[in-house]
Amino acid sequence: MQELTSAGSLDDFLGRLARAPERLLVLDYDGTLAPFTPERDRAVLYAGVAPLVEAIIASGTVVAFITGRSVATLSPRLPWTDIDIFGAHGCEHRDRQGRHHRVLLPADALLALERIEQEMRNRGLGLAMECKYGTIALHWRHAPDTLRTDIQQALPAILSALPASVFGAPFDGGFEFRARAANKGTALKILLDRHPQAAVAYLGDDLTDEDAFAALPAHGLGVLVRPALRPTRASVWVRPPAELLDFLSAWIAKDPARTS
Ligand SMILES: [Mg+2]
Repeated sequence: MQELTSAGSLDDFLGRLARAPERLLVLDYDGTLAPFTPERDRAVLYAGVAPLVEAIIASGTVVAFITGRSVATLSPRLPWTDIDIFGAHGCEHRDRQGRHHRVLLPADALLALERIEQEMRNRGLGLAMECKYGTIALHWRHAPDTLRTDIQQALPAILSALPASVFGAPFDGGFEFRARAANKGTALKILLDRHPQAAVAYLGDDLTDEDAFAALPAHGLGVLVRPALRPTRASVWVRPPAELLDFLSAWIAKDPARTS
């Protein structure tokens, strides 16, 4: 684990964790807790992660997920049912009671996303596309170079016709069109409003996770989880899987029930 901002920030956070009245651990899934796979439906948690997260939940920490996936594709991959899952970069939310919520999106955003979906299908790029509520991701991580080229050739015309309510941005392994109404930061703020006294950490790997890092309070901890370092707002860099397991183990070690 490497501190990126100030020396001692990780130890300071872990000290707060032991003293805090509440603990909140917010997690991305793909690339963070689960390695990328050619078939996204086969992405599973790194070995050893599930029992550690289980122990963290059992110790009283509130655990939640914020993902670019839809809630429907993430929830079957998790062994926990009574946790919050924010999907589609915060456009949708399944709460701990199993109730589903959607951010209200403007009509022009929904229409623009429908048109993008149709345009991609017309170009024969449907297989690269992941359509979710409020976002369309185009994946090329494990695809042939020709697919990436075809997608990139389609982008300028689409980008030039977008309404202000939708934007396009690259992510690690593709490109995504997203409604501006929500992002991982707005999702994290919902959790922070619910747990204002919590010691909070957010773990993520991708550019879209930067919105969540930016939304953390000054006393929170942003943890970039990826094999290679890149510019980030996170304050700690963790290389998976070994250092990820170390971080989760350190969290458990600060459980007040264990340390008191
Ligand atoms: Mg990710």
